[in-house]
Amino acid sequence: MNNFKFIVEVENLKKYYGNVKAVDGVSFKIKQGSIFTLLGPNGAGKTTTLEIIEGLRTPDSGKITIFGRQVEKIGREEKELIGVSLQETNLIGNLTVKETFSMFRSFYKKGLRVDDVLDFVSLKDKAKSYVDKLSGGQRQRLAIGLALINDPLLLFLDEPTTGLDPQARRSIWDLLLQLKKQGKTIVLTTHYMEEAEFLSDWVCIIDHGKIIREGTPEDLIKSIGGESVIE
Ligand code: ATP
Repeated sequence: MNNFKFIVEVENLKKYYGNVKAVDGVSFKIKQGSIFTLLGPNGAGKTTTLEIIEGLRTPDSGKITIFGRQVEKIGREEKELIGVSLQETNLIGNLTVKETFSMFRSFYKKGLRVDDVLDFVSLKDKAKSYVDKLSGGQRQRLAIGLALINDPLLLFLDEPTTGLDPQARRSIWDLLLQLKKQGKTIVLTTHYMEEAEFLSDWVCIIDHGKIIREGTPEDLIKSIGGESVIE
């Protein structure tokens, strides 16, 4: 792999849908081993940005570099170092949790042992449950576990805690902090300011397809005032 200063670099990314400027000139850089958060309201352009970086949508223009290499040129081996959890994961409801992990594991040459991932995301006791019988929080832990199965260096998680109760959200936060300790880089989207504040090394606030502020959570809170709420 090339030497790189930033694990992901995005430069002037644009994606328009008709007259909707979903992503309108977004640039940022992500340090290896950090938690980087795109924070913004519904329709701000978070998912579009993430899915372009993941290669799921084509941008109108802009440049993306991952692992120091232009994204169009990264090979299969480097792709296997990326883990993705989409906003909605369509899973097969009548497979068990363990069967689902085994299926995802089979997509990759290298990766973690299914039992170890089940343990890490605290789903061991649900191994034999059908996926469509899981609670919202268990489902999100499953989605994160699936994104981890290839033992990625770089992890993209699109709104991993939306709609969860505080306890389930907290358990996902703990997981993400453990992953950071293991040296993984996490790219996160969220609506929740307190989530961005608690987890992130760097936050970009995005609205109407543009980054309107960025910085460490401490700097952002100072600059916008502790009492402010993002709506
Ligand atoms: P949310 O928090 O609700 O998921 P988001 O910040 O992820 O929102 P995006 O899903 O990226 O926002 O959407 C940004 C804008 O682009 C929205 O106005 C959305 O309606 C529009 N958009 C996204 N995908 C498409 C598409 N495939 N066709 C047309 N418009 C789209």
